[in-house]
Amino acid sequence: MREVIPGVHRLTSARGGNAYLIEEGDQAVLVDTGLRSSASAVVAELAAARLRKLTDVVLTHYDPDHVGAAAAVQRATGARVWLGAADIRILRGEEDAPTRLRRAMFRSRWLGRAELPELTALPDDAELEVAPTVVAVPAPGHTPGHHLVRWRGVAFIGDSARVSKGRLGHLPGLLISDRADADATIAAIAVSRPRLVCPGHGSPARLT
Ligand SMILES: [Zn+2]
Repeated sequence: MREVIPGVHRLTSARGGNAYLIEEGDQAVLVDTGLRSSASAVVAELAAARLRKLTDVVLTHYDPDHVGAAAAVQRATGARVWLGAADIRILRGEEDAPTRLRRAMFRSRWLGRAELPELTALPDDAELEVAPTVVAVPAPGHTPGHHLVRWRGVAFIGDSARVSKGRLGHLPGLLISDRADADATIAAIAVSRPRLVCPGHGSPARLT
């Protein structure tokens, strides 16, 4: 586990996407979990960290590089696992994914193969404090139910944007479900002036 700033660690065992641990008081919250192939390593890393109680896991969106290890983490810790309501409906097959690429991914069962934890829905139209000072904020675009997490001026943005040279930019267009939503989400992140941005891929960075 690598300290990003006091109170925030990045897990070194999570493969595929970043997983961040937020420690607040006697609680801890995990943001994303990495691929399923790193699940046992992620559980071991969390156990070795002797953390305060892991109460909640926030999944920024339904892609397997973020959701993959969540079921194993829930089994090991009993944590509540949150995901945006729209992403839950798509993951469960109640609704179609909005892009052709992801529909193909679901059909090929590449997305569907991830073992799912018991999921608690985040509202897609309102912020929600999932744990004291840890707030899930709707951030659609990359996926319909994408959320970011805000904690004490730090923004954990999942795949709502990438950060390059201190600037927010779009992920490749193929991966974006709704371009207008993605534009609005990036603008909202910039306006909120986070002191640090922790993305789903790449390194945490300050915006210039
Ligand atoms: Zn990702």
